[in-house]
Amino acid sequence: VPGIETVRVALTSQRTRRVAIAVASGKGGVGKSTVSANLAIALAARGRRVGLVDADIYGPSQPKLMAVEGSKPTARDKVLQPVATPYGVPLLSMGQLVAPDQAIAWRGPMAAGALGQLMDANWGATDTLVIDLPPGTGDVQLTMIQKHRPAGAVIVSTPQDLALIDARRAIDLFNKAGVPIIGLVENMSGYACPHCGEISNPFGQGGAEAAAGELGIAFLGRIPLDIAIRTASDAGTPPAAGNGPEAAAFATIADAVAR
Ligand code: ADP
Repeated sequence: VPGIETVRVALTSQRTRRVAIAVASGKGGVGKSTVSANLAIALAARGRRVGLVDADIYGPSQPKLMAVEGSKPTARDKVLQPVATPYGVPLLSMGQLVAPDQAIAWRGPMAAGALGQLMDANWGATDTLVIDLPPGTGDVQLTMIQKHRPAGAVIVSTPQDLALIDARRAIDLFNKAGVPIIGLVENMSGYACPHCGEISNPFGQGGAEAAAGELGIAFLGRIPLDIAIRTASDAGTPPAAGNGPEAAAFATIADAVAR
């Protein structure tokens, strides 16, 4: 019956095929939020309809990175409406739901409930959600994995972090849960001289790539420790939105993720 076919098609297309890409790290401060924001922008530049979810309850930094600090999402029928950002990537952050000093005291179920509100928001035509997870392997990660089934995970590590056990633990968590690891990004890899741009490698080079090989996961690329990245991030102008050499590094990573 033609009518029934039409209904079926309508139902399928309503259930938008939206994938979630979890960005995770073993420890805090390795640049997971920086990579999440810039990856989201670089994916959007490649034609994806990207939304960004800041699930880092311990340090929700996306509103600042995406230049919408102070903006609160509205709710329609108890469903949150993501906040538009200047970079074409709508955002919802734990930091928009709660005062900064409150979230850290949240118990697991509260954090899980908040994550649900962010994930089940009115994302409209968004086809890809980039999720900035808290560091480590806690409640939010477990809820993300079990309830929201990410299509894959990007692991961010510094060269030193990878030598430690933390990044491997994060990888292990996704492996055990059957979430494919898209690959590893080595951040703060080498130091970009602010004067001449030359990159020096105080911690050696190639360690993360070798570790990725050892762990059987893809190496997505390296981003140098570069003052320009820090200042641009602090100013709410993510480097991926510009056209400097930093943008190229994030573009390479986005290409690998989009594949
Ligand atoms: P995390 O989300 O892992 O806690 P952030 O993304 O918040 O880490 O980064 C921590 C700090 O390091 C921020 O001030 C950020 O601007 C800075 N940072 C991150 N990556 C780089 C980089 N490649 N070069 C310079 N500074 C960086």
